[in-house]
Amino acid sequence: MSEDNAPYRVPVSSDDGGPATVFEHLWTPYRMAYIRGEGKPTGAHDCPFCVIPTLGDEEGLVVARGSSVFAVLNLYPYNAGHLMLVPYRHVPDYTDLTPEEVAELGAFTQTAMRVVRAVTGAHGFNIGMNQGAVAGAGIADHLHQHAVPRWGGDTNFMPVVGLTRVLPQVLGETRALLAGAWADHAVPVPEA
Ligand SMILES: [Zn+2]
Repeated sequence: MSEDNAPYRVPVSSDDGGPATVFEHLWTPYRMAYIRGEGKPTGAHDCPFCVIPTLGDEEGLVVARGSSVFAVLNLYPYNAGHLMLVPYRHVPDYTDLTPEEVAELGAFTQTAMRVVRAVTGAHGFNIGMNQGAVAGAGIADHLHQHAVPRWGGDTNFMPVVGLTRVLPQVLGETRALLAGAWADHAVPVPEA
């Protein structure tokens, strides 16, 4: 019995903690399509974060809609359940947001963590914004906050899924799971 002949195992599925079973079956590498860079917008005219809210929830992969912020699944996920929290307004910088938008972005970020934790059993998160192309923002003109769930042992998984895209069918099922759980975990936005 040689370890060398063992089938390739994705660390995220290891016994020390992968996504919950109900979620894991949606997220298997052989179902991934490597479509690196495809569909990336080239200018402000086709800014996806302005277009997405005009689409239906399923078509746009919208998980939740607030009054000034929405939550959407990332088409280029770094991990299963990678969400983005986005103001409707096309502004690039965190300092451009109004206090109301900051409050709702914060509440949506908290809700996203609760929902993804509840649905996937995530052990941790990377939360944050890349401000400016020089800082790594793929779509620098429209602010967006990433919420990337993490599991123990998923470190080696990241280069595999980084900048790849999962099949639309998988993303659609993921969206439905998260959207269905959103209301149960929603953090209220404080009154202005
Ligand atoms: Zn935009």
